[in-house]
Amino acid sequence: MNPTSMNADPKIHAPVALLALTYICQLHAAPPSPTSHDRNTPPPPFVDPGYPGTQEKAGKAPSDAVVLFDGTGLAQWGDMDGKPTKWIVRDGVMECAKGSGYIRTLQNFGDCQLHVEWAAPTPAEGKGQGRGNSGVFLGGTRYEVQVLDSYNNKTYADGSAASIYGQYAPLVNATRPPGQWQTYDILYTAPRFELDGQLQSPARMTVFHNGVVVQNNVELTGPSGWIDRAPYLPHPVKQPIAFQDHGNPVRFRNVWVRELGNPGRKEYTLAKDLLDSYCGKYEGGPEIRRDGNNLTAEVAGAKLTFFAESPTTFFAKTTDVQLEFKTGADGQAAEMVWTVGNEGEKRARRK
Ligand code: MG
Repeated sequence: MNPTSMNADPKIHAPVALLALTYICQLHAAPPSPTSHDRNTPPPPFVDPGYPGTQEKAGKAPSDAVVLFDGTGLAQWGDMDGKPTKWIVRDGVMECAKGSGYIRTLQNFGDCQLHVEWAAPTPAEGKGQGRGNSGVFLGGTRYEVQVLDSYNNKTYADGSAASIYGQYAPLVNATRPPGQWQTYDILYTAPRFELDGQLQSPARMTVFHNGVVVQNNVELTGPSGWIDRAPYLPHPVKQPIAFQDHGNPVRFRNVWVRELGNPGRKEYTLAKDLLDSYCGKYEGGPEIRRDGNNLTAEVAGAKLTFFAESPTTFFAKTTDVQLEFKTGADGQAAEMVWTVGNEGEKRARRK
């Protein structure tokens, strides 16, 4: 047998080719390999992991989580403008009140691990998208993990429970019957945008439904949409988390989130009328304006964007400038305290 005929025999050479291909793939996939492990790597911080819930009782969040709902109230939530919501809290559970609109967290989150427990209404009413529909949104109201009673309920696959709505069907249907508590554990990586608004990296999600992986690090095509797939539009990394009012009394409990990566300072999306109440001119200080969910001011010729760190304090991300507003007896902003770098506090009275 000459070498040419050997090469032509796929039975002999397919395993060799596969091995070679595997080796090449590993070369490309493997991270840079240090010559030895780093014995000086600091130990990871200790976290009490809490415990999972049962059908009868909600679980406990890990000790480093931001608890968004523990059954005691909706202090962390508002309607889409950050005002008190009409969603109902009773018996340690929050329930969507039909017609009251979406709810959102007051605090913003970027890359995160999000845990949500939910139950579809019982007895099951309606069919298709009309049965037990709600949604868990990341990135404000942009990226939806569908909540739906998908137990014996036909609908389009990329609109069923644990789908990335309109984009990815879940790998399996791990739905429990209506009335039973179900869990979503979501790993979310926020999209990143260049300064000129071009997409740098898309949003990604991994979703476990009742402990079963149903979305495996999928790359979102853009915001969730009913009919079409809209393109990405630039937005800050940190945005509220939102739940959908789709007209069905879906219930939620034990909601918590853990920020991942280097989340930086806390950020909030405040009600627009609160932001507007800070706008105006201040004696010896910059004029304050509102741009969407942020305040802006011109400092030393540069237009700075300020993010809320609390209902009264704001910071710029591009330079070391902070603002704090002090209210007078009438509840209106009377004074602005602002600091630039280490120059100390400056006080400016409202004009
Ligand atoms: Mg929905």
